[in-house]
Amino acid sequence: MLTALLNRQVFTTIHYSREELRGLRKRGASFICPHCSSPLTMKIGSCNVPHFAHISHADCELVRGETPQHLLSKQLLYDRVSSLYTSVSLEHSIKGLKQVADIYVKTDTAEIAIEIQCSSIPISEIVRRTYGYHRQGITPFWILTQPLKSKKLLSLTTFQQAFIRYSPHLDYFILHFLPDRSIFQLYPHLLPVSTTAFMSAAPIIIPVSEFTLPPSIPNVSVLHPSFLSHWYDFRTKWIYNKIHYNKARTDVFLREVYGEGDTFLYLPLYIGIPVIPHGIHIRNHEVEWQYYVWKDCLKENAISEESVCRVLNRRIANGHIELRSLPLLKIDEEIKRIASGYLRLLEELQVLRKINDMYQLTEPWSCPDHFSAYEQHKHDFFPRWKHILKKL
Ligand SMILES: [Zn+2]
Repeated sequence: MLTALLNRQVFTTIHYSREELRGLRKRGASFICPHCSSPLTMKIGSCNVPHFAHISHADCELVRGETPQHLLSKQLLYDRVSSLYTSVSLEHSIKGLKQVADIYVKTDTAEIAIEIQCSSIPISEIVRRTYGYHRQGITPFWILTQPLKSKKLLSLTTFQQAFIRYSPHLDYFILHFLPDRSIFQLYPHLLPVSTTAFMSAAPIIIPVSEFTLPPSIPNVSVLHPSFLSHWYDFRTKWIYNKIHYNKARTDVFLREVYGEGDTFLYLPLYIGIPVIPHGIHIRNHEVEWQYYVWKDCLKENAISEESVCRVLNRRIANGHIELRSLPLLKIDEEIKRIASGYLRLLEELQVLRKINDMYQLTEPWSCPDHFSAYEQHKHDFFPRWKHILKKL
């Protein structure tokens, strides 16, 4: 904690030098927790931001142990936000809610609660707190400060994925704060290639000194990352992994493919294409959910957008398709958007032909029984796919 009560007045460590704080401690100033009224001790090291800690943790429900990263993030963001607004408070307890906002801002038109999240908490807790703030007319702004693993692909845990947001010009993106470098990093145009790995465009750096609420993001190219052309390498890798690590007998999806008499390795290439941007809502790989669509309705009948939605919703209900938990998003009708996005792609690939509101396969698919027939399918498919990539 950075704030305490001293003689019934709010006292914040970051407004004082280490010397001044040591002086106060020497003189035996007694600091009290503003939330539970129990005594606090002041910690003044040489590295960490000077802060308070409960002498006994048992009493306080609202303030838990904080990492040095959390304390530093609070200090940096408080300094920045209070240079923009006059009414900013640290560790603000919200009346009517058992919640303490890390930073609370009151502007002429809005109340904003900044929540800095370093440690993983259950996503239901993010949902609960977000809901609580909204009920009080406060807009929460969640900031993720965990380091993200990024090499060729960005790897995001289920918890980190909960911080994914959407904007029309960035598509789905994730913003995270690196207090040690005093910067935000924003990864735009996220595109999942597995449940935890994502392609993204190059990250955008926003120094904390340029941070605003909401963040204003420099103009970036609307183009999708060029390595979208590697999509099919990732698709192939996913298929081989699936064969390798799953026992066909126990894997629900594979069992269904084999039960249908299809060869998993020779599925048509239009099963497993990226539906940009909204396909991210589905946690399963594109091969899985698009196979279900194909098997349940596309294979034999003329279909409509509604029939695709029905298939997806039914498969979600019975647990074959799982949606990602993305609590910071307010996207309406994501299933409808995914269905229409997929159908549009299939139409552009000339896999489907649209007649009135119905779609029909331009030619029936028969599973190749040997390698060279599949090579022919590839040969027909890729020029059309590359044509679509050019237009993205
Ligand atoms: Zn307390």
